[in-house]
Amino acid sequence: MHAGAVTIYVHEPVLERILAYSEQELRRELGGFLIGGLHEDGGNYVEIQHYLPAVDARSQVASLTFTHETWSRLRQQVETEFAGQLVLGWHHTHPDLGVFLSGYDLFIHRHFFPHFWQIALVLDPVRREFAFFQWRADEIVDCGFVCVAVEPGLRTIESNSTG
Ligand SMILES: [Zn+2]
Repeated sequence: MHAGAVTIYVHEPVLERILAYSEQELRRELGGFLIGGLHEDGGNYVEIQHYLPAVDARSQVASLTFTHETWSRLRQQVETEFAGQLVLGWHHTHPDLGVFLSGYDLFIHRHFFPHFWQIALVLDPVRREFAFFQWRADEIVDCGFVCVAVEPGLRTIESNSTG
């Protein structure tokens, strides 16, 4: 466990939704946003509770562009539907390219997700691989996560790997 690094908790139904959404399109990149809470008791952790697809992002074979409309719609949706929650980070797909952050992805992360707790999820729906990335000082590195089952009245940590 790296000092200062946030632990990532993701609700299992949210992760399943992202996987299903990503597999709808195997030729172009898709993306969206990770919504939830930041907690600071006993070390920092983020809890991904919702996913918002970036439906009006411009999608190409190997790049995804978040437009002005994407950002304004995101702000509006968070205010109205997820009041009090934060944009924890972003998700996008790399169909059959593998899981990594390209130079352009790093640019997006540095400019739009600069907070130490903001994260990226990259998913290859063809190879069926994915990874989370987070800030470690000035670097953006891949990291582990914890998948949390959310049944009513039940919260069980199913798998645990923190980089
Ligand atoms: Zn990318």
